[in-house]
Amino acid sequence: MDFELTEHQKKIQNSVREFIRSEFDKDKIREWDQTHTFPREIWKKAAQSGFIGVHFPQEYGGRGTGITENILVVEELCRGDSGVGVALSLVDFSSEVVLRFGTPEQKTKYLIPVTKGEFISGGGYTEPDHGSDITLLFTTASKQGDSYVINGTKTFTTNGTIADFFIVLCQADPDAKPPYRGQTTLIVEKGTRGFTATELSGKMGIRMTSTAQLSFNDVHVPLANLLGAENRGFYQVLEFFDESRIEIAAQALGIAQGAFDRALSHARERSQFGRKLADFQMTQHKLADMATKVETARLLTYKAAWNYDQGRIDPKLTSMAKMHAGRTAVEVTDEAVQILGGYGCLAEYDVERFYRDAKIMEIYEGTKEIQKNTIASALIGKGK
Ligand SMILES: Cc1cc2nc3c(=O)[nH]c(=O)nc-3n(C[C@H](O)[C@H](O)[C@H](O)COP(=O)(O)OP(=O)(O)OC[C@H]3O[C@@H](n4cnc5c(N)ncnc54)[C@H](O)[C@@H]3O)c2cc1C
Repeated sequence: MDFELTEHQKKIQNSVREFIRSEFDKDKIREWDQTHTFPREIWKKAAQSGFIGVHFPQEYGGRGTGITENILVVEELCRGDSGVGVALSLVDFSSEVVLRFGTPEQKTKYLIPVTKGEFISGGGYTEPDHGSDITLLFTTASKQGDSYVINGTKTFTTNGTIADFFIVLCQADPDAKPPYRGQTTLIVEKGTRGFTATELSGKMGIRMTSTAQLSFNDVHVPLANLLGAENRGFYQVLEFFDESRIEIAAQALGIAQGAFDRALSHARERSQFGRKLADFQMTQHKLADMATKVETARLLTYKAAWNYDQGRIDPKLTSMAKMHAGRTAVEVTDEAVQILGGYGCLAEYDVERFYRDAKIMEIYEGTKEIQKNTIASALIGKGK
């Protein structure tokens, strides 16, 4: 057993820290959060620095690493800032479905621009009537001549109004029993006739990321846009979640660590009753609890990533990491705001943004309740 990062992993981690020091401007970040603006300029620079799709093979513009290195990048970006970090780490959302199941042509066409910072990707799985349960979908795809024709609505789609292409999970065989055996994933490019994206306004957190409702009204996509095998879409998406949920755990871990860093430095600087806040035993115990939670979230997240890189796909461990890191982010950001007192509620002190951004970690990519169901069914056994 070896808990030490390799020299290469430390180098990647340090290069992200250096990037944050030179590129993350606090005033601009607060403005982007308040105006719900995607940080386009930083995204381009992050791609040029090789931080987008670090785990993609070199032939598709990545660094050919495992997902552990991507986890380290995501953690550091979100530690640097929760809003920018989440936005950057999601610009390639769902590209892994292309990576794992796409043809060489699809990988060349879509993944190279993603790693270069030219394309943003998105994935439409959730529908207005099907969120936690996507075993049945109302978005349909039917084969007509040389096209699939898509009709329906997806909602809460990350990057909805800014993505260049989407992976869309459709009910292709309406008679399949159970219905998920008739689901197919298709690639839909922005600008395709009949496709529209409408931003969902008023989001509590991750405001630098677009979240939209997608409408498909007789959208024709070529047969070549089939991703993977027909009627295997549901299984492909579940496999994708085994990977992407570890990335969400890393976002949550970075958010928790970032909030802890800010609370610690405030506790060291601020005095009340003639003493630094850090001199009160109550504050010391809060910091000790926060640091312990962050460290356990890190251990679980790194273990899940390492396991994945060993080729051992373990949905139970992935769900444990996502659930635990998500809860840690919520609890640690809450305590960070508390340690900053009234200042914690002001945008100028940043932790209020970390607090708002943390909650979504327990909702998207499967809620904490759904993670618990996955863990329990692995422990107890299906059908028992
Ligand atoms: C900011 C944001 C970005 C998102 N990005 C994407 C995206 O890019 N692509 C995409 O497809 N989706 C995306 N989502 C959607 C997200 O994955 C869903 O919101 C989530 O899966 C929950 O679905 P729902 O909102 O319909 O809630 P529901 O499924 O209606 O659940 C409501 C509550 O009931 C609980 N519940 C439901 N079923 C069970 C059960 N069997 N046992 C116990 N409790 C249960 C849930 O845990 C939850 O607490 C995003 C959501 C948000 C908020």
